[in-house]
Amino acid sequence: MTTFLDTAKVTVESVHLKRWRTVRPPLEDRVGIWSSPAVIAPNNFVYKSLSDWAFNIAVGCSHACRFCYVPSAATIKQAPKLAEYGVKDPDAEWGDYVLLRPFDEDKFLASLRSAENTPRDRLKPDGNRAVMYCSTTDPYQVIHHPNPEKQRELSRQARYLVRRSLELIRDHSTLNVRILTRSPLARADFELFRSFGPRLLFGMSLPTLRNDLAKIYEPKAPAPSQRLTTLQAARDAGLHVYVAVAPTYPECDETDLRATLKAIAELRPKTVFHEPINIRAENVARIETQASSLGIKLRTEVFESRQSWQKYAVSALQTVERLAKEIGISDRLHLWPDKSLGSLALANSMPSPKDHMKWLRKYWERVSEWPK
Ligand code: SF4
Repeated sequence: MTTFLDTAKVTVESVHLKRWRTVRPPLEDRVGIWSSPAVIAPNNFVYKSLSDWAFNIAVGCSHACRFCYVPSAATIKQAPKLAEYGVKDPDAEWGDYVLLRPFDEDKFLASLRSAENTPRDRLKPDGNRAVMYCSTTDPYQVIHHPNPEKQRELSRQARYLVRRSLELIRDHSTLNVRILTRSPLARADFELFRSFGPRLLFGMSLPTLRNDLAKIYEPKAPAPSQRLTTLQAARDAGLHVYVAVAPTYPECDETDLRATLKAIAELRPKTVFHEPINIRAENVARIETQASSLGIKLRTEVFESRQSWQKYAVSALQTVERLAKEIGISDRLHLWPDKSLGSLALANSMPSPKDHMKWLRKYWERVSEWPK
């Protein structure tokens, strides 16, 4: 019988590294314009309480986070189309391709009307009738292109896509908006965000305050210190903020988590989300490849078997829960325990299986805060 450990090793050693060594087509083929326009579409979140819909500006993401779940879910379905852009393996090449969706105002408005007119009883109770920017890419990433003129044009189009669509949502609907980014470039739109009043929440992913650690796991994303400064600026600008302490890495120890949560508490966020890295398709292989290319040892042993990962995940979630209590922000804490943590085998291995399930359900059923 093949164990989870064997599967992970086979993936890393036999498949992933070979793919990474494959000669890839030039960057200019894999950075450009996607074939279909950006529209508001229902999202597929499970137990996240982030939004009912998402607006994704691109296929691919230049931040290249090694743990990213997107290539294992959304992007993998685009594989045949991505092949036309020279992307042979959407998972292994994650972070190397960004294809900006064009803006077609008529199609966008049609998707906006469809979302606006969705009967409330058909929406998930935890979605807050919100559109998320973005769920499978970052709305404020820098799109790198070797030709400076093309890079400028792509940046201009990306900026127009975000700003124009936001203006249309604000003026032609009653929907809420949730921004989630890792980029300080969002500051350029703070005034626009403010014009939404309580209809918009601005948030950033901040799993650690350690710039050195983030550089390994999120190699092309702006440093956590820049993100914290941006969140403080958002707060000072009068925006309603939230923070996703997500996903934390196995190297985020108690000292690091406490420092991160203390800094976040100062922002008086509406909600503090947290989850550790979940195993999704080949993301462990991507993390292993990154460690090996940097010649460093990461604590990837926590991903070696389903049991070791579950133990790590429960411990990380409970540590953050305890620290949030210590810091006085438990009322705003919204953990994201993966649904696999509800497996019968795990529940039965806990001192009190009933309490374990009650703890999970408390967060699975929680509706995140929205300003009045
Ligand atoms: S910023 Fe988000 S979408 Fe982009 S690579 Fe990182 S986790 Fe994935």
